[in-house]
Amino acid sequence: MTFCLSHDAWLSETANSYILIKGDEIAVKCSALSKVGGQAEQVSGKAYVNSPSVNELLLDKKSALSSGSSFNKLQTCSHVANIAGQSIGLWNLEEAIELPQYWQWLSIRAFLKQASEEQALLASRGVQLAHWLQHNKYCGSCGGKTQKHTNERALQCGSCERLFFPDLAPCVIGVIVREDEILLANGINHKPGVYSAIAGFIEVGETAEQAFIREVKEEVGVNIKNIRYHSSQAWPFPSQLMLGFIADYAGGDIHIDTNEIVHASWFKLDDLPTLPGHYTISRHLIDHALKEGSALCI
Ligand SMILES: [Zn+2]
Repeated sequence: MTFCLSHDAWLSETANSYILIKGDEIAVKCSALSKVGGQAEQVSGKAYVNSPSVNELLLDKKSALSSGSSFNKLQTCSHVANIAGQSIGLWNLEEAIELPQYWQWLSIRAFLKQASEEQALLASRGVQLAHWLQHNKYCGSCGGKTQKHTNERALQCGSCERLFFPDLAPCVIGVIVREDEILLANGINHKPGVYSAIAGFIEVGETAEQAFIREVKEEVGVNIKNIRYHSSQAWPFPSQLMLGFIADYAGGDIHIDTNEIVHASWFKLDDLPTLPGHYTISRHLIDHALKEGSALCI
């Protein structure tokens, strides 16, 4: 699926509908109320959704306007995408507003676990734009206030005219294959017992392949070869672009960097540990390695 970006990056005023972002949270419409003792729980007269099943995240303009004075707290900021002829804007908020019935704020991480591919792309783009706008209000060179550029999706300093484009931090992530095994690691930021691909930020001046070789060596101590690019994923925590690879083992024993990794090991393809969620590129890469392994066994 592809998004068509408008020529006017700030086309939010004429959008048909909007996604609402507040910090690391997104407004979503939930389809199911939690049942507590067979009853939908009510808190202060409002339905309380405990384990929401997300229906949608586009709020039409009329619904947003019906929030009355709260609407003034909305900061129209950016056009996000055109999908099927529909123009979608982002409203970035600094504080919560009263949402329509069955809508609630949900963390982006929780949302991504149950979002469709289209929803995930929209939310990912929205939260990254919101984060960029939130943290680039002033110029890093002269301290002047920034404002929206008239033609480009950029902020411009009102004093020295320096441009600030949306933040993007490229990262590498990948799995290493050794015959019928893959190398996975439980990182210090992962849930205990969940094993994922090796990942890290690309340093200034590096190619993605060089970064992957370095990260693997630093984090788990092994050498790799035959690096194959697989796919990429926008990862909005806050503004990463994950470049995914598969590589073959080339030598060395596992030695983990304890500042980054809790445990790393070779796992047989038919005996894998708990893996990351299906929405992550790490899981896509592991699934691909499994398919390659299965093909070799036929
Ligand atoms: Zn400036």
